[in-house]
Amino acid sequence: MALERWFRRQRPTRGEDDPSPAGLWLKCPSCQAQLYRKDLVAHLYVCKECGHHERMPIDARVAMLADEGSFVEWSGAIAPVDALEFVDVESYAERLAAVQKKAGRPDAIVTGAATLDGEPVALAVMDFRFLGGSMGSVVGEEIARAAERAALEDRSFVLIAASGGARMQEGALSLMQMAKTTVALEALAEKGLPYVSVLSDPTTGGVTASFATLGDVIVAEPGALICFAGPRVIQQTIKQDLPAGFQRAEFLLRKGMVDDVVPRGELKARLATYVRLLRSGLPHGGEG
Ligand SMILES: [Zn+2]
Repeated sequence: MALERWFRRQRPTRGEDDPSPAGLWLKCPSCQAQLYRKDLVAHLYVCKECGHHERMPIDARVAMLADEGSFVEWSGAIAPVDALEFVDVESYAERLAAVQKKAGRPDAIVTGAATLDGEPVALAVMDFRFLGGSMGSVVGEEIARAAERAALEDRSFVLIAASGGARMQEGALSLMQMAKTTVALEALAEKGLPYVSVLSDPTTGGVTASFATLGDVIVAEPGALICFAGPRVIQQTIKQDLPAGFQRAEFLLRKGMVDDVVPRGELKARLATYVRLLRSGLPHGGEG
């Protein structure tokens, strides 16, 4: 046992922006091109051959959107509770402890204050790598607190969604977050402050069915899967072939479910434009 622990300690630790334990090269899941990891990171996790948008680590997201040195974290003070003492193949408590240790944060979200191209915003970024970005009581609470604090501090609210939906291990407590986040966003609406949501791959389930699709402007990243129930479930239910690109960002743009599809390299500038446009109707300081 002691020997095993010694070997474990000798393993090199991975960097924050390192998405997998593999080597220096990665294969693009879309075009199969071999990509140099450092290049992929420098290109905001977008394949330079085909434009495939890879899922992005939470810290890289914050760094991409917040003006340098402006981000002040609000989240992190609350941690989930295993109220149901839920066990599937593994207990929720054990699963949670392992993923918390790996992620270095208590749950699948980071919120905080920042400026985005000079605009005061509250930023909320979800982490798909943390239990599939699932929304439990802490994710819901952090979003609700961030929205309410944004309203108090006259900040626009910018959210990057990435989620497999509700967190099954928290049962009904997880579903209640849909109502809580929806109500909290009203604080922004009452002050006329903009809420812009960005749907990244994937945004599904109870997250799609609540705060993620309540933005004044709903932006999606290219190719992102955005749905309530996934294509496989729908196909098996209706027993019909689904159209090409079903439930992807571009398909939903054509159907009017999202307002814009923005490549990652242009996202910060576009978000700043939307926030500025939406705030321009407000009296000075956003009061009113
Ligand atoms: Zn590619």
